[in-house]
Amino acid sequence: MRYTGLIERYRDRLPVGDKTRLISLGEGNTPLIRLENIPCEMGTQVKLYIKYEGLNPTGSFKDRGMTMAVTKAVESGSKAIICASTGNTSAAAAAYAARAGIKAFVIIPEGKIALGKLAQAMIHGSTIIQIKGNFDDGMQLVKEVAEFAPVSIVNSINPFRLQGQKTAAFEIIEELGHAPDYHCLPVGNAGNITAHWMGYTEYFDAGKASSTPTMLGYQAEGAAPFIHGSKVEKPETIATAIRIGNPQSWDKAIKLSKDSNGWFDCFSDKEILATQKLLTEKEGIFCEPASAISVAGALKDIESGKIPDGSSVVCTLTGHGLKDPDTAISQCDTDAMININPTLEEVKKAILENM
Ligand SMILES: *Cc1c(COP(=O)(O)O)cnc(C)c1O
Repeated sequence: MRYTGLIERYRDRLPVGDKTRLISLGEGNTPLIRLENIPCEMGTQVKLYIKYEGLNPTGSFKDRGMTMAVTKAVESGSKAIICASTGNTSAAAAAYAARAGIKAFVIIPEGKIALGKLAQAMIHGSTIIQIKGNFDDGMQLVKEVAEFAPVSIVNSINPFRLQGQKTAAFEIIEELGHAPDYHCLPVGNAGNITAHWMGYTEYFDAGKASSTPTMLGYQAEGAAPFIHGSKVEKPETIATAIRIGNPQSWDKAIKLSKDSNGWFDCFSDKEILATQKLLTEKEGIFCEPASAISVAGALKDIESGKIPDGSSVVCTLTGHGLKDPDTAISQCDTDAMININPTLEEVKKAILENM
């Protein structure tokens, strides 16, 4: 049967009616890939999987939430949506609004959006409002403006977003036949870690899984409010998708971390980029910097034994590497490119010298 998106697939577990017009681009149903080379080189028996959310229609997990948020906005008669965004939410909002035939307004921090995400928001025809401020400033403005303007907020404070995003946990349980022992995620606003926990506990309560995973949340050193235990005024990190100092799902994340016996940790930009490169070079998987932090966390905790050998671990790779080509290229040695004349002789030489 043709796959037509996660709302259709999980209709009985989502707040939609029989007559609701579904706004979908075929999101969800992403691959769960078992890592081979990295665990082998580490000499660990941990079964390490990545959930490749970068393969959603606009290149990030935000599509799972946006299909629900825009479906419900349209159902309620809304003609416009608005969000603050570090980039991926605006890309998803712009695409789903285009699909629905409504307007999207996106508030983004000036100069701090990865190139691919900006291209998406622009090409889909959203109205882009750049602010001389960060995501947290944008979020505050969105909340205030939505009180008097006729627009629906589609940030993760919109409860339908988390409903859509919880389906990633359903897919993982169905694919593995059980819940993993540990689930690792990058944490910005903490909406996604909250949504995953909702999904896992919902399937556990329904008897579709006999356990729930321990939830591990990782942040960038310069944007790590969960590590400091308080807001960060001026968050800074190369991983722009998690450059957030005032997480909107703070209380829920603290609670689920406790309830699942989980923990939070943080990593430097250097460690984040090293892990992004490791995944591309050793496994052929290209994710954006923020996503790589879930694997950085898993590898550190496997190494230290906090995650015991033999465990099953899922890391969410939240967004595709093509979102941020500038950061990818800046990590590579462009001098290593070989420039030659178009002759067989010179191509042969280039190959032989580099075998
Ligand atoms: C939005 C986003 C995150 C952070 O998710 P939260 O729900 O805000 O914690 C992480 N990585 C990428 C690529 C994102 O787009």
